[in-house]
Amino acid sequence: MEMFVDKVRITVCGGRGGDGAVAFHREKYVAAGGPDGGDGGHGGSVILRVNDHLSTLLDFRYKRKYAAQSGENGQGRKMSGKRGEPLIIDVPRGTVVRDAETGAIIVDMSTGEDFILAKGGRGGWGNAHYATPTRQVPRFAKAGTKGQERDVVLELKLLADVGLVGFPNVGKSTLLSVTSNARPKIANYHFTTLFPNLGVIYVDEGVSFVMADIPGIIEGAAEGAGLGHDFLRHIDRCRLLVHVIDVSGSEGRDPVEDFDAICAELANYSVDLSNRPMIVAANKTDLLMPESDNLERLRAHVEAAGCPLYEISAGTTQGTKNLMRIVAEKLRTLPPVTIYEPEYVEVVESVGDPTQLEIEHLGSTWVVTGAWLERLMGNINFDDYESRNYFDQQLRKCGLFARLEEMGIQDGDVVDLYDMEFEYQR
Ligand code: GDP
Ligand code: MG
Repeated sequence: MEMFVDKVRITVCGGRGGDGAVAFHREKYVAAGGPDGGDGGHGGSVILRVNDHLSTLLDFRYKRKYAAQSGENGQGRKMSGKRGEPLIIDVPRGTVVRDAETGAIIVDMSTGEDFILAKGGRGGWGNAHYATPTRQVPRFAKAGTKGQERDVVLELKLLADVGLVGFPNVGKSTLLSVTSNARPKIANYHFTTLFPNLGVIYVDEGVSFVMADIPGIIEGAAEGAGLGHDFLRHIDRCRLLVHVIDVSGSEGRDPVEDFDAICAELANYSVDLSNRPMIVAANKTDLLMPESDNLERLRAHVEAAGCPLYEISAGTTQGTKNLMRIVAEKLRTLPPVTIYEPEYVEVVESVGDPTQLEIEHLGSTWVVTGAWLERLMGNINFDDYESRNYFDQQLRKCGLFARLEEMGIQDGDVVDLYDMEFEYQR
């Protein structure tokens, strides 16, 4: 069976940075050349990209780990290692990416901009970088840093202006098929719609909108009793809901009760969704018995609830064009489709013990290493003022400077932190 997959958990990992090289220039007749070890290449990043040909997250079911290429090590003659290739992961438009642990939104892949999900590690400096007037023969280079690793959940939330809701078999798919270019499956049994369908509806020149048909909601769906609950996420972003009701009662249900049941489901799922503007489409009017008072009762009921009602027959297309016109007009008054703001605050996890830093004293240079520091530096964006400030505070807090002073550091000495150096000033 074909499958619609709209939620997956994956692990992504940036490539490791290549190591810097320790090498010395060799030339005939030159006794001891200078250091010429090149830098390691940066690791590739994992990048997310919208691909409009994709409509499910199916591919991710079979592959859960994604790693970008590592950078190559540096070599002699100041040859830098090659950068690792980035890994580009295609996702359908409307994929929302969350941190697997906290559930916080990292990015909403709706605008079409690429997003760096896991940064590659940085290449370490070769010893050519470490030659100073007082240190002519640096016999060390820096290792590359690890790439960022993240566990994330990808969740597809379709981008549609209008969401169709209603019991199974009321005619949602039929309505979408007669008003749009979409060709959803239509059959006279429940749960025929296993895939959400999107259709574009052209109302007039320059006036169009996107409508989504999701698998029918059934009572108890919001509590996980049926299929519907999972699919409700696809109408989370919709600006307007069209509630389709079988007003003929052809399935033996009562339209007024149907209306209330679906509204209760929506409210159960989210208050936000239940407050979404709604238009009621009283469908299957062609099957309405002349003696039935269904239509009048339903109209009075939904209008009392503040929703306008329109009579249609998706089967004969009676009233469907008019309904689409009304929908387009209503949309003009509503805010655009929701794009989710990131909620994720980059937290620098403490890995290792900040007091377990190793300090190597080489002439006037103090080389500081340690897992905690490496991790911290891998997560800091040094182009950003706030981040640099944070980094500074962390160094102070961990007691590094106090230790350096104890060991006899002088003003003007160089402090070397992985691929970063600065002059020490008290
Ligand atoms: P969905 O489950 O809400 O998507 O319902 P479908 O669109 O699959 O329709 C279910 C059944 O009702 C199908 O057999 C349709 O042909 C039929 N149907 C839908 N709309 C109408 C209508 O306006 N009049 C009549 N007579 N049948 C309809
Ligand atoms: Mg359907």
